[in-house]
Amino acid sequence: MSVNQQAHTGPPYGQPQPGYHGYQQPAYGGQPLPGVPQSQYGAYNGPMPGYQQPGPPQGYFPSLGFPAKGSPVSLNSDTSTLAPNFIGSLRAPPTSGAPPPASGASLTSGHVAYSPFGHGDVQNGIPASAAPMQRTPASQPFLPGSAPTPVSQTSTLQQYGPPPASVQQLSNHMAGMTIGSPAASAPPPAGLGYGPPTSVAPVSGSFSATGSGLYTPYTASQGPPPTSVSQGLPLAQPPFPGQPVSTQRLPTQVPGFAPPPSSTGVGPSSYPPTTGAPRPPTMPGPPLPGQTVAGPPMPQPNHVSSPPPPSTMSGPHPGPPMSGLHGPPPPTHPPQPGYQMQQNGSFGQVRGPQPNYGGAYPGTPNYGSPPGPPPPPKRLDPDSIPSPIQVIEDDRSNRGSEPFVTGVRGQVPPLVTTNFLVKDQGNASPRYIRCTSYNIPCTSDMAKQSQVPLAAVIKPLATLPPEETLPYLVDHGESGPVRCNRCKAYMCPFMQFIEGGRRFQCCFCSCVTEVPPHYFQHLDHTGKRVDFYDRPELSLGSYEFLATVDYCKNNKFPSPPAFIFMIDVSYNAVKSGLVRLICEELKSLLNYLPREGNMEESAIRVGFVTYNKVLHFYNVKSSLAQPQMMVVSDVADMFVPLLDGFLVNVNESRTVIASLLDQIPEMFADTRETETVFAPVIQAGLEALKAAECAGKLFIFHTSLPIAEAPGKLKNRDDKKLINTDKEKTLFQPQTSFYNNLAKECVAQGCCVDLFLFPNQYLDVATLGVVTYQTGGSIYKYAYFQLETDQDRFLNDLRRDVQKEVGFDAVMRVRTSTGIRATDFFGAFYMSNTTDVEMAGLDCDKTITVEFKHDDKLSEDSGALLQCALLYTSCAGQRRLRIHNLSLNCCTQLADLYRNCETDTLINYLAKYAYRGVLSSPVKTVRDALINQCAQILACYRKNCASPSSAGQLILPECMKLLPVYLNCVLKSDVLQPAPEVTTDDRAYIRQLVTSMDVAETNVFFYPRLLPLTKADVDSDSLPPAIRNSEERLSKGDIYLLENGLNIFVWVGVNVQQGLIQNLFGVSSFGQISSALSTLPVLENPFSKKVRSVINMLQMQRSRYMKLIIVKQEDKLEMLFKHFLVEDKSLSGGASYVDFLCHMHKEIRQLLS
Ligand SMILES: [Zn+2]
Repeated sequence: MSVNQQAHTGPPYGQPQPGYHGYQQPAYGGQPLPGVPQSQYGAYNGPMPGYQQPGPPQGYFPSLGFPAKGSPVSLNSDTSTLAPNFIGSLRAPPTSGAPPPASGASLTSGHVAYSPFGHGDVQNGIPASAAPMQRTPASQPFLPGSAPTPVSQTSTLQQYGPPPASVQQLSNHMAGMTIGSPAASAPPPAGLGYGPPTSVAPVSGSFSATGSGLYTPYTASQGPPPTSVSQGLPLAQPPFPGQPVSTQRLPTQVPGFAPPPSSTGVGPSSYPPTTGAPRPPTMPGPPLPGQTVAGPPMPQPNHVSSPPPPSTMSGPHPGPPMSGLHGPPPPTHPPQPGYQMQQNGSFGQVRGPQPNYGGAYPGTPNYGSPPGPPPPPKRLDPDSIPSPIQVIEDDRSNRGSEPFVTGVRGQVPPLVTTNFLVKDQGNASPRYIRCTSYNIPCTSDMAKQSQVPLAAVIKPLATLPPEETLPYLVDHGESGPVRCNRCKAYMCPFMQFIEGGRRFQCCFCSCVTEVPPHYFQHLDHTGKRVDFYDRPELSLGSYEFLATVDYCKNNKFPSPPAFIFMIDVSYNAVKSGLVRLICEELKSLLNYLPREGNMEESAIRVGFVTYNKVLHFYNVKSSLAQPQMMVVSDVADMFVPLLDGFLVNVNESRTVIASLLDQIPEMFADTRETETVFAPVIQAGLEALKAAECAGKLFIFHTSLPIAEAPGKLKNRDDKKLINTDKEKTLFQPQTSFYNNLAKECVAQGCCVDLFLFPNQYLDVATLGVVTYQTGGSIYKYAYFQLETDQDRFLNDLRRDVQKEVGFDAVMRVRTSTGIRATDFFGAFYMSNTTDVEMAGLDCDKTITVEFKHDDKLSEDSGALLQCALLYTSCAGQRRLRIHNLSLNCCTQLADLYRNCETDTLINYLAKYAYRGVLSSPVKTVRDALINQCAQILACYRKNCASPSSAGQLILPECMKLLPVYLNCVLKSDVLQPAPEVTTDDRAYIRQLVTSMDVAETNVFFYPRLLPLTKADVDSDSLPPAIRNSEERLSKGDIYLLENGLNIFVWVGVNVQQGLIQNLFGVSSFGQISSALSTLPVLENPFSKKVRSVINMLQMQRSRYMKLIIVKQEDKLEMLFKHFLVEDKSLSGGASYVDFLCHMHKEIRQLLS
């Protein structure tokens, strides 16, 4: 592909335009820049792309690409250049005259399409009429005539006021957790106050989302009845080891449960997480059988590498017997002296034969007081403590029926578990940005007092449901996007136009900037520009700008990116059938590379490398009859032995590529080479992209620890004995800094690395993953890869990974209004300074989490604003800026903060914070810090916002009532408290995965979804209602599904009817069910169809293909399954939900005393 080097005449990137003040720069007016060929811009006059792929074959996920977008019209190209100052040094390869995107801008009614350069009718791309608009109708450009009147807009929005139902909401909040109150049988009105008013009409047909239906991955399922049944019972504290027994009483707010007084002999290790006692010894359960079995791989969680016991070993279940839902309380936790919930008799719904719960309603005198004789053991009713299932169901029923309209500042969106439609009316959709709180304290003192972290989880390229409109592309002409003169914020709905529209005042820094002449527009009587509704950047929260050459690396438009497939052909890879599988798959998959819009073929070029101890490059030039191999055995100084013929167009070289992919498995079929290199592989890819002057992605398929002599060579330093020592952190750190330096080079080139790992033993994910992590790539891990059981999962992941939307050579900056600023960042990226997040590649699944701190006072009137700007190169090589804006409220009352928090986002942030913490601090320190911070958050609420009546009661803010249960799940997760079978690589892998997860993913990852399949309605499309993650919710007569985003378990009770077993598994008895199944048999009966459809539905919702594991009750594998029943005490010592809530209460009370 030839490189069309354009002379650059624009201002140096990042520097203010000289002579900028006057804006009178006639030389620029409407004329192409001297020396800049018009074609340079003409290439971008084309239609808007969207790499929709017509009719992918079955099994391929359609690529969700950029949609066709309308575009506003610039009437005048007379611009003075606002020198882009996006971020430091920009790196972008030169353009090769990137194929023009097809124009979705079928502009209409007297406007000149993309007129800024005076030749708006130039269409270098495919004519708009030939462009099928798949996502958004072509009629969506902002037609001036179709704009609604400003009046209708203002009248429907509740401008910046408190939400309508706030009074009710307030009372509920002030009452603390409603679950404990007698009146709490009604679902809490969570969110009622924040929903958009029902009367809000779509502002304009011109850019409203098409369709009004909700998209429905899962439909409203019938949840269990409200579990808030407890009668407001006093809660005695569980004496944690060594802790004095509480003398406090808990009144109505929180159901009580009385853990044993210490006199009952609680061992010092009964609460390992906080006591810091070494974890392993506390494992109360029976040893996991088969721990040391090194036999063939068996079903195991997606991230667990150690082979579970062979199914043939399934003997009697070593754990406690299961019990049915209505049976006596099972010993959920293996017996542990002194750790059972204590029977108190005076509160709480009690499980089992406890007649008179509630009998001694609050005011019961003396528990908590110095323990007398230990009360009889008691099971507290878990139904009386806040239920995630209930909260999720309530939010669905309260907020799932109406669209979430983003026109109101500081609105808390529905939960991530609720299906809802978003209408962008000036703030970014929660699919792009979610915040820990939508009401920020005005002062840093308040923020510190509350300890509520102020953070935003941003997913800049999030995939939207088909009913929602993707961001429009805006072209401000050759001078680039209109920006604030001082802080360089991009034009957005919150900029204030003044002086009749001749200037605008920046909403971020207050600086006044002249409106460029070509952008001038008159104001209406409300001070709003009359073209308000015609311009996405004035009326929408999210949109894109076409970037000019000033935003490109070296001031050259980029070339389309390249994909390089790099296949390990060492002995293990060949023997397992992996090499053949990959080659076969690539033959078809290469036809589905991302492409934009209606481009006939992808602009992405491809290249191939195989390797073991040496690297083999392939010349697949179209003119060759056969591919040619070039071997580089000097891996110490990697170079690419060929330039011409290495990166090729798939269509042109189809025959040669097919021949190569046929030959590779044969060439290495008899290899005896077991050693591999790794760093030189990345270096080779990097060098190839450098030579081609483009960004791109490496897909590396790798099997083993790279021990061959080469740069980046690693040694096996795994040592599980380090767990719970001060050196545990080294397990998460790379063993050499070599890869950090390599990552930096990759980021500079826009070389993103995706890693597919197939280990049979330790391969040091913590080190191998460094480059992937810092370049914004993805890691996939298939421990003990076996063709029969794992190929579906791997191929689905590979297909999705190859096809998904990616922005290359990306830089993100978050600007904030005066008073707060972004201070910390979490995610898969590289930062060379304190503000710019750099990613060689950013895909549609990745999030970046940003924390904010005060640097001044905020005002309730003006609120706070965020603007996230992502500069990136599309898959066809177009340089763009995606802008997301979000306005938040500010408060002087802490109660407002607590009323507008989002716990799911808070947990997402806290998990990432903790998972980064383990790199530098002992895990125990990290865990204690987490507990302490949450205790402070809740104590501050208790002290400042809750009713002052009962000093000892546990009162949780309505919006945070799940904080304890979710926090406990984070504390019990494999990174912070690994189960015995979890390997060091598993932990490093999980740590990296979570760091890029969005809120929906962390939600289900930490609190998995548990569905009773036998309760599913086979006649409907809906999922069966979820139940809480506890063993005592399972009935041995039922079949359940549990998913956490990585795995799907299907648990079969021992008493399941034979007919159901026959229908689902095609065998006649429980004993014949094979635990080795990786898919369910396809059987023609309603139950089988329903279950398989549920599984498919779940698979489609997740960014990774989940591993299916069949678990028979009382079988060995049940141990793995129970690890995910997160409300129960875990084998690794994690507290049960009930116990942890007691512990949190104690922590809170200590802070309050
Ligand atoms: Zn500004």
